Amino acid sequence: MGMDGTGAWRPAERVAGVGTSVFTEMTELARRTGAVNLGQGVPELPSPPELLADVAEAVRSGANQYPPAHGAPALREAVAAHQLRRYGLAYDPRGEVLVTTGATEALAAALLGLCDPGDEVLAFDPCYDAYPAGARFAGAKLVAVPLAEDGDGFVLDADALRAAVTPRTRVLLLNTPHNPTGKVFTADELAAVAAVCREHGLVAVTDEVYEHLVLGSGPGAPGPEHRTIAALPGMRERTLTISSAGKTFSVTGWKVGWVCGPARLVAAVAGVKQFLTYASGTPYQEALARALGGVEGWAAEVRRVLGRNRDLLSAGLERAGLRPYRADAGYFLQADIRAWGHGDGVRFCRELPSRAGVVAIPTSAFYVRPGAPSHLVRFSFCRSEESVRAAVERLESGDRSPSIKG
Ligand SMILES: *Cc1c(COP(=O)(O)O)cnc(C)c1O
Repeated sequence: MGMDGTGAWRPAERVAGVGTSVFTEMTELARRTGAVNLGQGVPELPSPPELLADVAEAVRSGANQYPPAHGAPALREAVAAHQLRRYGLAYDPRGEVLVTTGATEALAAALLGLCDPGDEVLAFDPCYDAYPAGARFAGAKLVAVPLAEDGDGFVLDADALRAAVTPRTRVLLLNTPHNPTGKVFTADELAAVAAVCREHGLVAVTDEVYEHLVLGSGPGAPGPEHRTIAALPGMRERTLTISSAGKTFSVTGWKVGWVCGPARLVAAVAGVKQFLTYASGTPYQEALARALGGVEGWAAEVRRVLGRNRDLLSAGLERAGLRPYRADAGYFLQADIRAWGHGDGVRFCRELPSRAGVVAIPTSAFYVRPGAPSHLVRFSFCRSEESVRAAVERLESGDRSPSIKG
């Protein structure tokens, strides 16, 4: 904080320009207009009933004080067992697993723990909005590597990635399955990313909060498979893998996440984390330790619900003339708005409540680099089936020609 010329306090430079303005604006617009909100990714999806009961029981039985700084031992063990079972990667629950206040804290603490001012962080563009903010808080520069548009999807441009590396590059931030696009990085793409990390001595920080939500390519069609970059040759020793209970169990308000990696990298994250929150969520951690053991069975149910919503939304957008992109995973899909009269996603989203009674988020909110595409809009399908059906009906009968004044 500092004083400006009038003597009034002003915020620090690191928060100037950091904002969630479009998200706040669109959420407020939905509230004011009664539009169906397919903007922010707040799930209306089921959670395992035993998990909810276990939290209540943990609270009643007194699990209400600080857990150990690295997280409840039972949860650290469950996370290590999960990584071994699912990816064949062994982590020591004492020192190689750290429980955090959501994936968000893990990301921020990783960037603060790994970057000095002036260092560079690579991230694929578009990207989750916590990445540029986290880099900025660390005094680092986020260097955006465009994901190339390819038909109805996005692909890695390995040449662009190589060209973006400089002597100051320290960290490569990866997100697969990817928000906002719903892209799942292929084996070949991950191999190319891993090669760049090895050649240039980069640490990979990989955000895998949608690891259990790969949906398949459509009704009956087999889809891509989630792979973790830490399992590639030479990568375990240089990778921090981040995940979270929020998306997998539809409990985004609990904010329980975790990081796995080699001890010296996890220690760097823990050093920051202990003075951000120290620890949090004891009863949730206790209950999640049990739920994680049976996550595969649970996730199949969520994927079924999400897959149906995705297919409903995608077909509805198609009929509405808003060309949908492929979304293989997660909560979101993009649509090309140009057939509705103009290609300005921000303006389109401001108009959409009056044109069709629906709220969405302009994908431009997730692009870091200037001059990024503006013709895409992100719709979320993690809402109830009724919400998705209502949105689709409204979009199909929406006003496809924009108002003159915009
Ligand atoms: C939702 C989300 C997060 C945040 O996870 P929390 O556990 O709620 O902090 C991080 N990364 C991506 C890509 C997300 O979509």
